[in-house]
Amino acid sequence: MIPLAAFRAAAETIRGIADATPLVPSPFHSAQVGQEVLLKLETAQPIGAFKLRGALNAVSALPDETPGVACCSTGNHGRGVAYAARSRGLRAVICMSELVPQAKFDGIRALGAEVRIIGRSQDEAQQEVLALCRNEGLAEISPFDDPEVIAGQGTIGLELMSARPDLELILVPLSGGGLAAGIAAAVKALKPSVRVIGVTMERGAAMAASIRAGHPVEVAEVASLADSLGGGIGLQNRFSYPMCRALLDDAVLVSEEEIRDAMQALYFEDRMVAEGASVTGLAALASGKVRARGPVATVVTGRNLDMGLHARIMAGKDVMLGDYSLKGRTYAA
Ligand SMILES: *Cc1c(COP(=O)(O)O)cnc(C)c1O
Repeated sequence: MIPLAAFRAAAETIRGIADATPLVPSPFHSAQVGQEVLLKLETAQPIGAFKLRGALNAVSALPDETPGVACCSTGNHGRGVAYAARSRGLRAVICMSELVPQAKFDGIRALGAEVRIIGRSQDEAQQEVLALCRNEGLAEISPFDDPEVIAGQGTIGLELMSARPDLELILVPLSGGGLAAGIAAAVKALKPSVRVIGVTMERGAAMAASIRAGHPVEVAEVASLADSLGGGIGLQNRFSYPMCRALLDDAVLVSEEEIRDAMQALYFEDRMVAEGASVTGLAALASGKVRARGPVATVVTGRNLDMGLHARIMAGKDVMLGDYSLKGRTYAA
């Protein structure tokens, strides 16, 4: 378990760069739920997602002689590591497969990282990361299974409790579980009665399946509106799985249709743009799968999605997610 002091130290480390995101009320969702609903806007981070917190904390914990860092995320973790390495003047190498779209490549290179295109799968890219660590002494930064990363993500929990000590419930989008583990550990160290619930998509939810099985399991990865929640938790998971298993009050699943509806409500009612992954908490409230008994905060984790896709969903058009056809819906409150 990670002690409260580690979260407080992480908060000092990221201060002025990745902390103090807004916590704003949502009048629409509050009326719908019958309790005060607050949105923690990690969309306001310099990289558009919370992953900068953990990346900064992990990079700052490296020994001075470390020549650089490497990882193989194409998404928000890659952005976070690139930004954090630059802020410390370190070399960052982000490895990706040939299948990654140009926009993601450009986005990460614009943050000053070296991007290597290796092979046709994440597995091949990961082999390159391991080779860089072995041959050039780079340090690999895990997206979720690292105590420094978890401590960084958990600073959200400290901010929530200092802003609103009366929170009854915190909803957290759940994938590899670094975010949920960190928030749950920090919050429960301060106030054990606060419920912390992870929310993820029905299609390909590795952490939820692992908690149910009692050990880390693999699930087939399929396309989802919540693409940032895809991927496994690692069969050798050491930190995020045991912490989520011990600390989360529940792990709830939402459908693609519920995610679509929550993206629309956030846009048309709260006037905000966010990724599918970010609205799973709102989807759980709107569907009645989770009931709040007092003030509830949900973490709106990021805003890095394709704006063409966002426009289609808002316009009520059908979208294809792999071989799944998600029907369009014209928004109505
Ligand atoms: C990574 C990510 C998550 C999930 O975080 P984990 O620590 O992997 O559970 C949720 N939302 C967004 C936008 C992310 O990038």
